[in-house]
Amino acid sequence: AKKLKVAIIGSGNWGSAIARIAGINTERHSDVFEKDVLMYVYEEEIKGKKLTQIINEEHENPKYLPGVKLPAHVRAVPSATEAAQGAHLLVFVLPHQFIGSVCKELKGKVDPSARAISMIKGVDVRDGDIRIFADVIEEALGVDCSALSGANIANEVAQDKFSETTIGHREGERGRESAELFFRLFDTKTFKVGMIEDVAGVSLCGALKNVVAIAAGFTDGLGWGDNAKAAVMRIGLMEMKRFSEEFFKGVKPETFTETSAGIADLITTCMGGRNRKCAEAFVKTGKPFDQLEKELLNGQKLQGTETAREVHEFLKARGKVDEYPLFRAVYSIAYEGFDVQDLTSKL
Ligand code: NAD
Ligand code: 13P
Ligand code: CA
Repeated sequence: AKKLKVAIIGSGNWGSAIARIAGINTERHSDVFEKDVLMYVYEEEIKGKKLTQIINEEHENPKYLPGVKLPAHVRAVPSATEAAQGAHLLVFVLPHQFIGSVCKELKGKVDPSARAISMIKGVDVRDGDIRIFADVIEEALGVDCSALSGANIANEVAQDKFSETTIGHREGERGRESAELFFRLFDTKTFKVGMIEDVAGVSLCGALKNVVAIAAGFTDGLGWGDNAKAAVMRIGLMEMKRFSEEFFKGVKPETFTETSAGIADLITTCMGGRNRKCAEAFVKTGKPFDQLEKELLNGQKLQGTETAREVHEFLKARGKVDEYPLFRAVYSIAYEGFDVQDLTSKL
């Protein structure tokens, strides 16, 4: 049988970590996959040298995943089109604000029989409508798209510290086949992949937990302690689940309460994520989030504040902001100057 060619579209903190795992597994399962993996890198210069060149010479992404070696057969290319050309498996792992332009570029250039997977933690809100990125990718490129999300702080996964993750797949034979191929591409002894037939639930967990993580970071900044943070996480999980069930057909309750994409990612992000970190600093320094993102993350991107704004915009268009008081509080504190001390006043 023809060997499957893999392309990674993205090379940030998580993109680089996942490219490493894919590279390890294309070599391990050489009966299924072509060994060489192309990785799209948004080009930039570091000390006068192109990032693609550094990655291809040193097999490391020193800006977004320093100190971790990538397999030599993971090759960086500066064009998404070049990476995706002829690929059978496409892995989308970009900060959510960039996916629109990359899809536009790739339109009509992807093999229609290819399979895609979205690792993007965010939602697409426009004209009062909300979509998950797996659907955005399917519609833009005409390929079927699964989702992968889980309790996966990239730096830990990149050091082979144990974690689980969840693939949400489409229904029917083809959906299951896609999930099994991506399982082979990502599952390792220390990165355990589970599967559930719920693309929307898995995607929405990944997006919405970032809003809850902002609230968790606020409690840290306020010095409110572990009980307060646990309360925010519990209430947040309930809002995530209710929101998803209200606006998306067919999401499964167990995705939220039993999978790595659900409860486990919520916990890890509220303990150790970038959203949490910046929200704590927001309280302690009084600086706005866009400034903190630049100062604290060295080019990595915050997803939670944008998602809070997008979810707020969507709920407002439906007159429902008050039905999600934690989401509302995060938005109001981040964007409207509400006093962070009032975080829990409407809960
Ligand atoms: P990141 O936060 O490290 O973002 C930086 C990346 O964006 C870099 O590769 C940079 O080159 C690229 N970039 C900057 N400007 C760009 C542009 N105009 N067009 C295209 N690309 C541009 O990225 P990440 O951590 O790989 O996150 C990707 C997705 O994965 C996000 O939705 C994130 O929530 C999710 N995720 C992250 C982690 C994690 O621990 N980092 C874990 C799981 C999921
Ligand atoms: P942050 O973007 O808040 O770092 O969350 C990372 C993550 O998604 C872990 O699963
Ligand atoms: Ca994230």
